Amino acid sequence: MPKQIFTEIQSKKLKKLGILNSLDLLLHIPLRYVDETKVDLIKDIRPGAMCQIEAKIISIEVSYRPRKNLTVYVQDVSGDLKLRFINFYPSQIKQFEEGKMLRVYGEIKSNSFLFEMVHPKYEFISIDTPLKNFYTAVYPATEGLSQKLIFKLVQKVFKQENLNEQYPDYFGNLYREKNLPSLLEALKLIHKPSQEYEKKLFDEKKSIFHKRVIYDELLTHQFFFRGKYHENKSYKSKPILYSDSMQKKFINNLEFKLTNQQQSVFLEIRNDLNQSYPMYRLLQGDVGSGKTVVAVMAALQAINSGFQVAFMAPTEILAEQHFEKLNYWLTKLGIHVALLTGSMKPKLKNILYEKIKSGEAKLIVGTHALIQEKVDYKNIGFYIIDEQHRFGVRQRVALKKKSESNKDFEPHQLMMSATPIPRTLAMNYFADMDISIINEMPPGRQSITTKVFSSEKRSQILDTINQHCLNGNQIYWVCPLIEESETLQLQTAEQTFLDLSKYFVKHKVGLIHGRLPSKDKTEIMEKFKKNKIQLLVATTVIEVGVDIPNATLMVIENAERMGLSQLHQLRGRIGRGNKKSICILLYKKKLSDIAKQRLKVIYENIDGFKIAEEDLKIRGPGEVLGLRQSGLPSLRIADLDRDHELLNLAKIDADILLKKNPKDVSLHINRWHRNYQDVGRS
Ligand code: ADP
Ligand code: MG
Repeated sequence: MPKQIFTEIQSKKLKKLGILNSLDLLLHIPLRYVDETKVDLIKDIRPGAMCQIEAKIISIEVSYRPRKNLTVYVQDVSGDLKLRFINFYPSQIKQFEEGKMLRVYGEIKSNSFLFEMVHPKYEFISIDTPLKNFYTAVYPATEGLSQKLIFKLVQKVFKQENLNEQYPDYFGNLYREKNLPSLLEALKLIHKPSQEYEKKLFDEKKSIFHKRVIYDELLTHQFFFRGKYHENKSYKSKPILYSDSMQKKFINNLEFKLTNQQQSVFLEIRNDLNQSYPMYRLLQGDVGSGKTVVAVMAALQAINSGFQVAFMAPTEILAEQHFEKLNYWLTKLGIHVALLTGSMKPKLKNILYEKIKSGEAKLIVGTHALIQEKVDYKNIGFYIIDEQHRFGVRQRVALKKKSESNKDFEPHQLMMSATPIPRTLAMNYFADMDISIINEMPPGRQSITTKVFSSEKRSQILDTINQHCLNGNQIYWVCPLIEESETLQLQTAEQTFLDLSKYFVKHKVGLIHGRLPSKDKTEIMEKFKKNKIQLLVATTVIEVGVDIPNATLMVIENAERMGLSQLHQLRGRIGRGNKKSICILLYKKKLSDIAKQRLKVIYENIDGFKIAEEDLKIRGPGEVLGLRQSGLPSLRIADLDRDHELLNLAKIDADILLKKNPKDVSLHINRWHRNYQDVGRS
């Protein structure tokens, strides 16, 4: 690509916008457009509107008090208008000669007798200076790089001779089928839309020209994910044979009956495990929908086939809780369950490492300690990753490395997530995985009533709490932060703990937060579980997974500061037993619009998928999916919300093209590669 299109200074400035070459520049898509294709009459203009006027200079006025001001009075056939400049050069004063014709574009203000424009865009014209016949692009700009210059450089790129060779269409038929223009045509029109088109379509990035570019970006995105998907299936794994007798033994011992959906997703998993390529499946299910037991059934099959299974949780509390439950279920079947967390004593850890290495430990529950260097599995066949969204995608790479001891075979992988994402979005966005969904709750669950109070009414709920404890129930009291922070004015957990301990002399109050040594955390959770603590003051450490059915009331302070999925996760800690539960959301005035919306959604809905949909409406998919933090390729033009139909198409097409036309797929990916650089495509 000829580099000398831009001067050195220009290149430097373009770099600030992330533009490294001419394709980058062409993909620097305008934010919106202004309409300079027609001229308004001064008599028709209204304050607040963006207008273009052609008028003659009548007089100019320079004043220095109260501040420096250059006023240019202009007139057209219909009326008068003031143009005002606060920053100006002496040379400008000379430019504005009486009688000269100006074409100005700007917003109309009305803070004087005459309408005025402050710092309008202007040019000197003669009678026959033609109007633009295209909409003017407004670009994301940076200092020293004016709109005009960006436009000029873009047009310079288009003036090169060998453009068609530089920007070929790799999948010509596909675009023609969809009535999409060629890439070059699309880019040309995006930067310089002809006035015959409706401007709004361009402003909203819904023109077919935008669609073409967006589709290309989504296609790259799907090449990446679907490529991974198919690549994954090309690895070798040892199939896990299904043993019906093992399964029967387990469920006959279970204290409940599986729901239909638990059974059907288990069937999907079972089927995957039976293949000679690795399972890579995401199990989505609302908080409390009973994902753990499904994972355990799968683990059992793996163990029964002679493999070790690692069950990874994001926090120590959760790992310990899983360990207890799994131990309880599996020792009955003679299976050795081990627990490994980062904070365990080195001596204990070493013993465990030995057991893992020798293969004595069959099911190892733990935190990310499970994938650290020192852990050497004898025969790991299956990883279960709970609350996967907490780990991020990078963990997956670490897992792969871990299985090098078993070099020729990849372990199977099941990820679980309680952040429900609408099905279609999940299918398309997590297109590198298979997805199973549980969206029913085990029977007999009691409803949760949600109440919303201003925190001024905090003292009034203490009675409710007292009554609750007297009836033998337990309570979570959730505070968002533990340290005093004046700016945020959040109640500290420590202070709440002291206050509540003083108030409830008859009930035992406990405090748990992230900074406690894990030994203390375990001890406190243990006490809470045994009802030796009735009221547990907690930070959001209890957000994920904790399962204590006797806790039936939850108070969440500063609920207005929390996101929907966090609130939903927190609330999911109650309503787990067979007693009615109450969730009290306290908020500090004054509520922002978005906080109001969120509280309304959480108040009105209990179904996690429904809440996720609402969340999507409020925040948009990029935020909901956590794309920023995820390390996944981000999209620069496409918007998953606006463009979900194109995303559906892109997914289908990506599958076909990956198979049919891998060479052009590579070329296409390379073209868009810059977006994907830090993802470490292999
Ligand atoms: P999550 O999907 O949020 O991880 P869990 O697996 O922790 O949910 O399950 C929540 C609770 O429901 C646990 O106490 C679990 O033992 C129980 N449970 C799971 N499946 C059923 C079922 N089919 N019937 C009754 N209770 C169930
Ligand atoms: Mg769980």
